[in-house]
Amino acid sequence: MKKFLCLAASLMMVFSLVACTSKKDELVMATNAEFPPYEYHQGDKIVGIDVEICQAIADEMGRELVIEDMAFDSVITSVYTGKADLGAAGLTVTEDRLKNINFSTPYATAAQVIIVLDDSEISSPDDLIGKTIGVQLGTTGDIYAEDIEDATLERYNKGFEAVQALLQGKIDAVIIDNEPAKVYVSQNEGLKIVDEAFTYEEYAIAIAKNNTELLDEVNSAIAKLKESGKLDEIVNKYISADN
Ligand code: GLN
Repeated sequence: MKKFLCLAASLMMVFSLVACTSKKDELVMATNAEFPPYEYHQGDKIVGIDVEICQAIADEMGRELVIEDMAFDSVITSVYTGKADLGAAGLTVTEDRLKNINFSTPYATAAQVIIVLDDSEISSPDDLIGKTIGVQLGTTGDIYAEDIEDATLERYNKGFEAVQALLQGKIDAVIIDNEPAKVYVSQNEGLKIVDEAFTYEEYAIAIAKNNTELLDEVNSAIAKLKESGKLDEIVNKYISADN
């Protein structure tokens, strides 16, 4: 009986190990496909800039890209726990996040911008004092908006839900990344982006602290993508120069 239990226990350990780490020939990307043009659903597929960058990295490494779609605030956790090899979700590099995971070299610059209704009196970040602001849970918009004096934060699971609340007059403004902001403003009447950005940021790929080998591989793949012009090509496919 003892022997059996022992065998069962070791089998369970083996299974849990297999379940927790991806197979060697796969590259598992954790993302939240609610963030156009970086990652979003198109029919039954997940497409976008981050998807194509990770696909190119996987190709470079000779691995098969596997996309795991999850809530935004689970992306970094799943990299931290080793469930995913990398996190690519328009992730902004921050000091706090660097305490738990590593970031690759940045592949894009970004900004948190303010979306308001066309006739809003809010015309700069200073005007957000005392206002009700919609953000996406766990994003840098959420984190940095906490410092706005007397503001009330409404947190949504999806950026799009914050935009809907703004359209319905439930909140005064949305703080969100610039490229999704442009997409939402172009898809909905009556919205505009305030000229002055709220913050400037950089996007990078999240990798577990102990996986320095992968970090090196990803960084050299990103360097190659930058050098060859492939990165620009991917970005230009999703973001037109005139918007
Ligand atoms: N760039 C923001 C962040 O890293 C938002 C990313 C997202 O919503 N996918 O927090």
